Amino acid sequence: MSSRKQSRITNIWSKVIKDGSGNICTKVVVEATSAFEYRVSRRGNDVILKAAGVAANMPEGTIEVNDGLVRKVSLIQTSAGEAVFEIHPEHPCEYRVEAAEGIPFRTAIILNWAFLIKMFKGKKLVIDPGHGGDDWGGKGPVSLIEKNVVLLIARAVEDLFGQVGIQTVATRAADENISADSRFELAKNEKADLFIGIHTYSDNNSKVGGAAVRYKPSCKDSLLVAGMIKEELIQKLKVADRGLKESRELAVPGEIPGVEVEVVTITNWVEEGLLRSPTIHKKAAEGIFNGVRKYFANIGGH
Ligand SMILES: [Zn+2]
Repeated sequence: MSSRKQSRITNIWSKVIKDGSGNICTKVVVEATSAFEYRVSRRGNDVILKAAGVAANMPEGTIEVNDGLVRKVSLIQTSAGEAVFEIHPEHPCEYRVEAAEGIPFRTAIILNWAFLIKMFKGKKLVIDPGHGGDDWGGKGPVSLIEKNVVLLIARAVEDLFGQVGIQTVATRAADENISADSRFELAKNEKADLFIGIHTYSDNNSKVGGAAVRYKPSCKDSLLVAGMIKEELIQKLKVADRGLKESRELAVPGEIPGVEVEVVTITNWVEEGLLRSPTIHKKAAEGIFNGVRKYFANIGGH
């Protein structure tokens, strides 16, 4: 080890960025008190950065990222003066490392989303904010109305898919009456890859809470994507798992898979509160995005 003063690792964070060439990337940043030496290697998709002359001024462990490309980042202090950062992407990706002088000293690992962008190319989704107009849907104990809140969540979903080049078409963009038949009909007319209805659950018991996903029974991919969305949604929102159910509204023929996501339970006091937060709308959208991403990766090129 050099005689240089030991660098202290003070923070690790990540965010999704567009780089100078307009490519979408995950940027994982390690903040430290000064520069340190490192070696980078790969193990499958994982990117492993071994740092020397460092001590962690933060707890060892795992940071859940779940941004679409990177699942998590782990920090392990292997011995006095050595630490390992393991970045776990869920898909193949290229990466580069950039260091930036300053206080704190930042070492950034930038992972490219090119694989995902290619996978998403040409995909089209129909997003259906449930209810609307005279049909209010559920109502919370402090009078939040389902038809209004699902519209906000649907917009967050459309934003997220739009950023990665997936085309979305919404069944409604305002508070309007839409016939039940015309909702899935739009997915057929648009030749969509997937229909996603956005709802909340309602229960007479205000203690009941959680998320569930209903699926279109006539198409087996519906169950597959429903399971993936539910798993990722619960991961993001940390609410109870109410399971997967067949959708009566989506009991229509056709090859296009369809789901109805009951994001949380509007009649639950706590979850109605969650539904008032734009942060939660975004998290719900991220959960839905991650489920759909996994589904597209699972079905491969067709
Ligand atoms: Zn509903």
